[in-house]
Formats: sequence, structure tokens, C-alpha cells
Amino acid sequence: ATPTAVMVATGVGANHGVLVKGGDALERAQNVKYVIFDKTGTLTQGKATVTSTKVFSGIDLGDFLTLVASAEASSEHPLAKAILDYAFHFHFFGKLPSSKDDIKKRKQQILSQWLLEVAEFSALPGKGVQCLINGKKILVGNRTLITENGINIPEEAESFLVDLELNAKTGVLVAYDCELIGSIGMTDPLKREAVVVVEGLKKMGIYPVMVTGDNWRTAQAVAKEVGIEDVRAEVMPAGKADVVRSLQKDGSVIAMVGDGINDSPALAAADVGMAIGAGTDIAIEAADYVLVRNNLEDVITAIDLSRKTFSRIR
Ligand code: ADP
Ligand code: MG
Repeated sequence: ATPTAVMVATGVGANHGVLVKGGDALERAQNVKYVIFDKTGTLTQGKATVTSTKVFSGIDLGDFLTLVASAEASSEHPLAKAILDYAFHFHFFGKLPSSKDDIKKRKQQILSQWLLEVAEFSALPGKGVQCLINGKKILVGNRTLITENGINIPEEAESFLVDLELNAKTGVLVAYDCELIGSIGMTDPLKREAVVVVEGLKKMGIYPVMVTGDNWRTAQAVAKEVGIEDVRAEVMPAGKADVVRSLQKDGSVIAMVGDGINDSPALAAADVGMAIGAGTDIAIEAADYVLVRNNLEDVITAIDLSRKTFSRIR
């Protein structure tokens, strides 16, 4: 293709909300053989909602939610946002706001008064969060986070989790002062176009793969819904880049689509990194493409555009 053709294609892409950072990335996309999708926030909407809660100790549900929401208040993770929303509605149910703006304003005011003070907060990508509240350690996250801290997961908690996971939901565990105090189940629905896009890629001769830090049961349930057979679950951020490299071994061209901080190593390792526009800045920086519309159809648009520009339609 001539430089002019590349320039025209870049402009056409931009008009569709597909931003490409240079001619090389534009050229590589034509030969993509595998598209690896992150699950949370990429295949799914990244807008989780709480579907159930369970407390294991004698703690009051309201107090439990206050603790968990306080611990999650500084997290950017979709699961954290779901927990804060739920805690807000739980505490303020029945106090009707007058408008959408009013909800937003009141939420900020009220949350800031009512959340507990947190010290030594840290987000642990692929695992959860930890911090101190009233001088005691609180952990909110998956099984790995809990067991790594030497805390036992009782049968009651395990069966609550498994039940959620078999239904494509994600459960987080909460430990406070070295004791498991409860669990929260959440659902994050697929994007509307996800199934069609996966089907479309297969028709183009491209293999879709799903990679996620979430647990195996949830991952497999979601993959089944979306029509992806090749699933890699319980993968830490560095592991996502390893998945990219292992598929590259036979010379295959790999596209990675992701939205999170935890996807940035894989976006950088891929031949074609595609960041969801609504995602985090770090992901956008690491990628070759930015899909501004937050719509997965643009993965196909980007590959199509490259194939047409470099006239190698197979
Ligand atoms: P994905 O790879 O699908 O985007 P992540 O790597 O972000 O998923 O998260 C993997 C798992 O780590 C989540 O399913 C959850 O169990 C746990 N986790 C991560 N961040 C948080 C958080 N802020 N609060 C609770 N759990 C979290
Ligand atoms: Mg994600």
C-alpha cells in the first residue's frame, strides 16, 4: 500500500472511532490469526451489580457493607464500583432523590461522611484489595488473596462461591481481623454485540480466545455464553502476556483486546494491541489501537480495514 492509502485508511478508521497509532500496526492487523479477549470490561460491560450477599459471622449486614465499601472506595475495579453502589442503596433505600444529579451529589456527600477511615490501602491486581480499618487488616478479593493470607475458607463460604460461579457470576470473599466475615456475589453481563463479534471472527478464519483473572468456573460459564472454546482463567497480569507469547511461538499474529491495568503487559506483547476506549489510561498507552466507541464490532472493523488497505483478502 502507498503512504497515501495508509493515510486514507487511518482517516477512515478515525471516522469510525478506530484510532491506530501508526502504519505498522495498521499493516499487522490484516494477518491476525488469534484474537485474545480479556473478560471483565472487554467482553462484559464492566458494569457489575451485586446479586447476593452472605455474612458468616454474627456481623450485621449493614456494618458488613460499610466495611467492604470502605475498603473498596479507592479501587477502580468494576467489582469495587458495584459494591459501593450496593452499599449506598442499602443504607439509603427509601430516601428518594429528586433527580439524577441529586443522586450523584448525595452519593458523594453521604459516602464521604459514612465511609470508614482506611490506612495502607493497596490494590492487588488479579486478586483484590487490602487495607487497615480501625487498625485491623481487611481483605476483599478472591480465594487466592484469602488463602495467601493464611485464612481458612469454610465449607459454607466455598459452596456459596461455587453456586455463584456455576451461574457465570463472580464472588468475592471478605476477611477482617484474620476471619472470614462474608461474601458478595456479582454479575457483569456480556456486551450486547459480544456474541455476534465472536461469531464474525470465526467466519473470518480467526480464533477467539478468552483470558481472565477470574476463576475457572465463572470464566467457562461466560465463555460458553459468548461462544469461545479456548479459555485461560485465573491468570495474573504477567500471565496474560505469557499467553500472548505462547500463541506467537509458531509465528501466528496475535491481537489482544483489553481495558484494564492488568491487560497492559499483554497489550504491549501482542502484535496488535487494542484498548477499549472506556478503559484505563495505562491500557490505552500500551495499545496500538484505541476502540473509542467501546464497541467490540470495531475489532472486526480494524481487521477489515487493514485487509482492504493492504489488499490481501483471503
Ligand atoms: P479480568 O482479567 O477478567 O479483567 P481481574 O484480573 O481484574 O479480572 O480480576 C480477577 C479477580 O480478582 C476478580 O474476579 C476478583 O475476584 C479479584 N479482584 C480484582 N480486583 C478486585 C477488587 N477491587 N475487589 C474485589 N476483588 C477483586
Ligand atoms: Mg478487564
